[in-house]
Amino acid sequence: MLNIVIFGAPGSGKGTQSERIVEKYNINHISTGDVLRAEIKNGTELGQTAKKYMDQGQLLPDELIIDILASTLDNLKDSKGVIFDGFPRTIPQAEALKKMLAERGQDISVMLDLEVPEDILMERLINRGKQTGRADDNEETIKKRLVVYHSQTSPLKEWYKKENKYEQIKGYGELEVIFADICATIDKVK
Ligand code: AMP
Repeated sequence: MLNIVIFGAPGSGKGTQSERIVEKYNINHISTGDVLRAEIKNGTELGQTAKKYMDQGQLLPDELIIDILASTLDNLKDSKGVIFDGFPRTIPQAEALKKMLAERGQDISVMLDLEVPEDILMERLINRGKQTGRADDNEETIKKRLVVYHSQTSPLKEWYKKENKYEQIKGYGELEVIFADICATIDKVK
């Protein structure tokens, strides 16, 4: 089983690199943000709740997102592994993920931290907002998401260092070079 956490600030390229990793290693992709956007699109009650947080650039409560993650994981069949994209985002979420995997006799193989300078993140997110119309990719909400990232999410770097799972990847420059670095790191733990 290859279980990867892809980590980084909003705009660090988690989604883009996940697509390539999925293709090369033939594992499943769970993006909690994508799950929530699908709920919003389908007009579900969960979607309505999620939208309130997402529009404010805030995180959903841990209990709620942990439940969503658990049921998404339960729905996977014959999985060779999973790339977790956008989850965990807090220490209680990381602890819950560790427990969920342990119950299945599994563990996280590696946490890949995509490091990107703040000015590049801002530029990428504003461009994505223009291209895709994603509701939370506007300057005001991006700034809030970055504050939330620094205060609630980045402490996970230390958490995964203590678990001996932490690997930093330079997340800017040529897409191909970033992907090659990622593959070299995955191949070491595979
Ligand atoms: P993303 O697509 O990963 O950037 O997520 C978009 C938004 O969905 C975030 O700004 C949060 O509001 C919400 N979200 C996604 N994943 C999580 C999570 N693991 N914990 C809490 N909120 C989340």
